[in-house]
Amino acid sequence: MINTGYKIRKSPNLTVKQRSNGSVFVKNRINKNSVVFDSNDVIEFLDYFNKSRLFDPSNGNEKYDEDTNELIIKFLDWGFLTVDLELEYTPCPICGSKNTTQFVKKYRKEFDITFTYDKCEECSVVFLNPSPSERALEFFYKYYGYYSKIDDQKKYKYEERITEKSNKIRDEIVSSHIDVSKDTMLLDIGCGSGFFLNHMERKYKCNATGIDVDTRAIKNIKIKNPQINTINGKFLNTEKDNKYDIITMWGYLEHEKRPKEVLEKASALLNNGGVLIIEIPNIDSWTFRITKSKWPYLNPPLHLNHLCESVLKRLNILEDCRDIITFNNSTGSFMLKYSKLQLYLYSIVNFSYRSKEVDFVASVAFLLFSVFDGLFNKDELIIVHQNEK
Ligand SMILES: [Zn+2]
Repeated sequence: MINTGYKIRKSPNLTVKQRSNGSVFVKNRINKNSVVFDSNDVIEFLDYFNKSRLFDPSNGNEKYDEDTNELIIKFLDWGFLTVDLELEYTPCPICGSKNTTQFVKKYRKEFDITFTYDKCEECSVVFLNPSPSERALEFFYKYYGYYSKIDDQKKYKYEERITEKSNKIRDEIVSSHIDVSKDTMLLDIGCGSGFFLNHMERKYKCNATGIDVDTRAIKNIKIKNPQINTINGKFLNTEKDNKYDIITMWGYLEHEKRPKEVLEKASALLNNGGVLIIEIPNIDSWTFRITKSKWPYLNPPLHLNHLCESVLKRLNILEDCRDIITFNNSTGSFMLKYSKLQLYLYSIVNFSYRSKEVDFVASVAFLLFSVFDGLFNKDELIIVHQNEK
């Protein structure tokens, strides 16, 4: 059998009841998702995974048609099936040091794993260790999805409306550092369903390109705006030929297993005077210090590393630049300035909606903390690196 980096199995937290009329009631006791199915085929389907625990949509032992794949993805979404990701220990992703200490732990019900973030004693980066292997991550984004959730129209429209506010803010940040015109080459890495690119392409008619590993998210862009160039794959394995005036990473770098290589490559793709704009969660914030493992940006196993300003400044690539500008964005100040409350509430739900493990008290507490944070401290960092080659 080919090792694909993951295994699918029936969720251990299921209640399955066959009713007298032939229908079947399935409920996940943890996330409370429940569905009534017309026929009892579903029992056979779930039991199959109970026995074999094997799943490989591309090759290996089992091959399923498109419909079955879709069904597996749905069952994963609902928590009727669960996935075991292959985890591996790594040295520090920034400096390579093995001199690390445990920093914070976070239990995730849907994986039944307590994830650990280590802190590097040499360069102080915080990173998930062990973390999912490359192939496990590839599976996760390709099939389990991240942005691809928004494949139905209603949800897409909602997400588009919600993100329009942050797109405007991002546009303001970009255009305050570089003039954007129809000749501008713009690359957004980890673009998801391309809402930011859409905004920029419509407003400036610029040459916009998006990269994402999520196949369904890329498909969304192709349908909604064919003017945008798309690349479906990992940034480190693609895009070598073009040069860009603007490269953006909105909430992408923390998902990357090799953040240093990503920054080096992105910097090398910049035109003279071009800007690289990075938005990352700021673990060096009050909200983290107070909420610790409840901090929503912690988000294992997807957020693999937490770089802070001092770590980024230590990197050679950013030391060489003419201009490092650090914005201390914060949820709290956004709320006060841009009525970002709705977006923020949505993000809390969104972070944990897969498992529906929204802890209401924690969410409200977090919201209060973030107002406090807006006044005193910042939980999002934006770094602007300008190329002077
Ligand atoms: Zn290090």
